[in-house]
Amino acid sequence: MLGSLNMDLVVTVPHLPRPGETVLGERLGRYPGGKGANQAVAAARLGGQVAMVGRVGADDFGPELVENLTANGVDASGVEPDNSGARVVLNAAPAQRLDQGLLEQVDTLVVNEREARDLVNEASPEAMVQALHAIGPRIAIVTLGPAGSVYCDETGGHRVEAFHVKAVDATGAGDAFVGALAVGLANGLPVQAAMRFANAAGAAATTLLGAQAALPRIDDLRRLFGLELSFSES
Ligand code: ADP
Repeated sequence: MLGSLNMDLVVTVPHLPRPGETVLGERLGRYPGGKGANQAVAAARLGGQVAMVGRVGADDFGPELVENLTANGVDASGVEPDNSGARVVLNAAPAQRLDQGLLEQVDTLVVNEREARDLVNEASPEAMVQALHAIGPRIAIVTLGPAGSVYCDETGGHRVEAFHVKAVDATGAGDAFVGALAVGLANGLPVQAAMRFANAAGAAATTLLGAQAALPRIDDLRRLFGLELSFSES
């Protein structure tokens, strides 16, 4: 059997929500599903000799789905865990207590200076970012408004200079920074280059009023700072 395997998450509610209504769930159940896996189990339970070919995520559900097949007599040796290699960037705004288990899943942690101060008890941005890195993310970043940003990875702490702009409204600078950082890292830029790109986007966002209205496009960064970067559509 070649097909899908997934975990159905079923929440019991007192009644179906009306449009826009929030209804509190009572119980959350996990039920192995996916049309491929369902049909494999159906056939095996009825005496068929079944081998399943498919993929499961490299998460908690993956092994459960494979075990469920095996328990039902399906040969699951053709089911492979698929590591999505997704990079998790956590912008911990507003500052809150960060769960250690959560931080272990985070590749990159981004906070502004105020949020960093709430999370770690350090005075200088360099000390803050080192302390944040020690908590667990692969890359810790503190944004510093007009002073640029600092990051700490396995090579240690580094400051990245700000781009000079005539700032009119700081709203959206952090969002532009995080968006640009994600694009840069996802496209394989080295951390230092992704940080510079993010600083440029953050600075550009301060040159116009509003949040989304001020978020820059690649052309804006070229025009404002002469940044020659482009990411392919693929
Ligand atoms: P937040 O909006 O989350 O408080 P920041 O104010 O630190 O975040 O801004 C995010 C990034 O935007 C900074 O790291 C910096 O690179 C850039 N930036 C913000 N304000 C300015 C500014 N006045 N001049 C140049 N760059 C800025």
